[in-house]
Amino acid sequence: MHEFRYKNNQLYCESVKLEDIAKKIITPFYLYSYGTLLSHYRKLAKAFEPVQPLICYSMKANSNLAICRALVKAGSGMDIVSGGELYKAFLAGCPAEKIVYASVGKTEEEIRRAVAKGILFFNVESYQELVLINKVARDIGTIARVALRINPDVEPKTHAYITTGKLTNKFGIDFDTAYGILKNRLKFSHLNFKGLHIHIGSQIIQAKPYVLAIKKMASFIEKLKKDKIGIEYLNIGGGLGIIYNKEKPQTAVEFARKILPILKSTGLKIILEPGRFIVGNAGVLVTKVLYLKKTPLKNFVIVDAGMNDLIRPALYGAHHDILPIRYPLNAKRYKVDVVGPICESGDFFARGRIMPKVKEGDYLAIMSAGAYGFSMASNYNCRLKPSEVMAKGNKFYIVRKRDSYLDLVRKDIVPEFLK
Ligand code: PLP
Repeated sequence: MHEFRYKNNQLYCESVKLEDIAKKIITPFYLYSYGTLLSHYRKLAKAFEPVQPLICYSMKANSNLAICRALVKAGSGMDIVSGGELYKAFLAGCPAEKIVYASVGKTEEEIRRAVAKGILFFNVESYQELVLINKVARDIGTIARVALRINPDVEPKTHAYITTGKLTNKFGIDFDTAYGILKNRLKFSHLNFKGLHIHIGSQIIQAKPYVLAIKKMASFIEKLKKDKIGIEYLNIGGGLGIIYNKEKPQTAVEFARKILPILKSTGLKIILEPGRFIVGNAGVLVTKVLYLKKTPLKNFVIVDAGMNDLIRPALYGAHHDILPIRYPLNAKRYKVDVVGPICESGDFFARGRIMPKVKEGDYLAIMSAGAYGFSMASNYNCRLKPSEVMAKGNKFYIVRKRDSYLDLVRKDIVPEFLK
């Protein structure tokens, strides 16, 4: 699944010993495996080979330029959700014709830039947004390409915060409204309706909700065909689950086997927007044990990473395995809470976890932290965002510098009257 493995009780990323990196780079830091990243991308591309999909990596999972660049070089496009991601996608060398742009709240300025750059299409989330894109395209004197993001109203059986394809969610357009829009598409003089899009949620571990959603899409596409409403693309979004704990998510091949027949039946070009599947298990957060604190009720392992570095446990109660980077052979196992230094009781990485006894100064790897890790990091508590490192073979490279204290105040302005 990934290239983080113990050899002689030492945790390695590819052929680099984590301890060797930890001796050189200030903790906490993110560490990514280049090989794992690419192998996940290729697994998906191979599984879906019969429909030759365009894979648009979902940058929100991790938009580090080195990661994006690695994927672009492997042939990936980008799924973006903001002007900032558009900017970074181009810096990573992604061609405009491989960029798709979702988000319920695109601003006029963001739309203008993306139209001017000629991206493949917008995944449009409301009628009002279509009106705005049409206006912007008219102003610029061009035709903008759009796909309608459909809300298929299916239950993906994942965490409520990452469920996006139910009618109670803010995302997408219901089938009836979408049908009405497509019937009247000629009203939008500066739009070319290229396709349909869905994204039903994230960390989905079964094929069932996808099959249901894609079947709904296939019958909608049939209905459009009967009405001679031609479209070219079906974008099935991202959301493929990965192993964090004891989940048994479908493999790319199993997933493909279940949905390829439906995809083929549409005769459309297929787009996938994976994020977590590609980068989730390709990264870990390395942290140092600062203190072992025993209270009347608990054993706390206090580490130097906090919820500002990796918010998933605090935000979703998410599980991440935590491994000592030097496995303490014969160490007793005991029950601990692994917590950060931040002034919130939600600042934890594990609660009531049985772990081998570690010592102050030991390093731990918080596993499966490549997706929605650094990309959700903040400077809360005026903490410095960590550096990011990428290992390839027996070498490692800093792919983002750790913040400095100057970074914390660079944008602050104290007005004259306070000086
Ligand atoms: N596409 C869209 C529109 C999304 O909103 C997301 C995540 O929220 C993704 C793709 C990527 O999802 P995942 O990382 O679960 O593959």
